[in-house]
Amino acid sequence: MDAAEFRRRGKEMVDYVADYLEKIEERPVYPDLEPGYLRDLIPTEAPCEPESFEDLMQDVERVIMPGITHWHSPNFFAYFPAASSYPAMLADMLCGAIGCIGFSWAASPACTELETVMLDWLGKMLQLPECFIAGTHGHGGGVIQSTASEATLMSLLAARCKAVRRVQAVESERSESDVLSKLVAYTSDQAHSSVERAALIGAVMMRKVPTDEHFAVREEMLKKMVEEDKAAGLIPFYFCATLGTTPSCAFDHITKLGPLCNKENMWMHIDAAYAGSAFICPEFRPLLNGIEYADSFNFNPHKWLLINFDCSTMWVKKRTDIIGAFKMEPLYLKHENQERFRSLKMWFVFRLYGLKGLQAHIRKQVALAKEFESLVQADNRFEICAEVILGLVCFRLKGSNELNQNLLKRITKSREIHLVPCQLSGRFVLRFAICARTTESRHIQRAWRHITQLAFELLQEQE
Ligand SMILES: *Cc1c(COP(=O)(O)O)cnc(C)c1O
Repeated sequence: MDAAEFRRRGKEMVDYVADYLEKIEERPVYPDLEPGYLRDLIPTEAPCEPESFEDLMQDVERVIMPGITHWHSPNFFAYFPAASSYPAMLADMLCGAIGCIGFSWAASPACTELETVMLDWLGKMLQLPECFIAGTHGHGGGVIQSTASEATLMSLLAARCKAVRRVQAVESERSESDVLSKLVAYTSDQAHSSVERAALIGAVMMRKVPTDEHFAVREEMLKKMVEEDKAAGLIPFYFCATLGTTPSCAFDHITKLGPLCNKENMWMHIDAAYAGSAFICPEFRPLLNGIEYADSFNFNPHKWLLINFDCSTMWVKKRTDIIGAFKMEPLYLKHENQERFRSLKMWFVFRLYGLKGLQAHIRKQVALAKEFESLVQADNRFEICAEVILGLVCFRLKGSNELNQNLLKRITKSREIHLVPCQLSGRFVLRFAICARTTESRHIQRAWRHITQLAFELLQEQE
């Protein structure tokens, strides 16, 4: 393909993408296929001779599209959102063209520098304390990671390194392996599975802190566990708090947990993968109060801030903590090989939406969740299972877990809308998350009519 053909095909592709997104509602949101469907549809080996673009695009419709769960359909309410916007897609195109690998400043100066400035812009939108902003003389700063899981792992490894050094500074005869075997990390019993995985990879013990009736960690519970563990000769060193848990969007009490962690020399990392985007709105910013006690903080603009995957942003209070653990260059805290020009899509989205546009997106989606909550509340066959704070509604039919499992089976089978469940205090609960950027009130109303219709049929059959 030469430049002339690229111009033509590129324009065709933009039309294909715009058509796909404009008409996405016409496609069933969830595929109707058996595992292994794809292998039979394409040859067993790569072609020897080049093929035509037309043939390839035909196969996109024949082979790929039937196997897609359409995350950007306004009928998709599963998991948490995957952000997407036209400005971010355009930036991704340009990123592909520049195609640089920015593992050091010299390898691509704009790539490295734009990233640190974009993280400052975003940090200021969230009103992060000054110490997290790189600016010209701060000790902290931000960096783009691929995923929240990666950020959690990085914080845990940095905390581990710091803890070993701290203990050895006082007890120089103690071996590293002895200290490591005594380290203990903590997180909520509602935390994302990636937090536990970080402890597995970091080869340290991790204990789950039980949560209160709002699914949040309170200071008393963590304090009790820390006291017990210290009495048993263990070394508490790390706590991963969650702001906006995956099952129910619950918020740990970091204003109280933070001082406890600081006093006990425990690193506090905050995982706000989903909820973090909402903190750009002044009315939701109080949910982040207590951030000043944290050593590191992470959220995923690729979930809710209109920046396509991958863009997970992490800030640390002291860059030296990370540099010490990973021997990385001062300003840029980076692994080699992973540095695509990801800050470009942040720049495009921030400039073409503006803070106001981004806030409007968050507010609209929270209002849609509230609208759905009201519909559930108005129907006494159903109940709300967790406080609706942002864009997630946890609800269920009053009755057994089996009844709710059957309801979800019917919803999934109908393929008109897509939801996933969660467990809350042993109860099977349906999660309704506002996901696609184009979701409107009519989609919420239609989804609810559909759910109540299926519930009605189910309840009738049971009688
Ligand atoms: C989605 C989510 C994650 C995982 O994010 P990745 O970027 O896929 O690693 C972690 N924590 C919470 C609270 C989440 O909601």
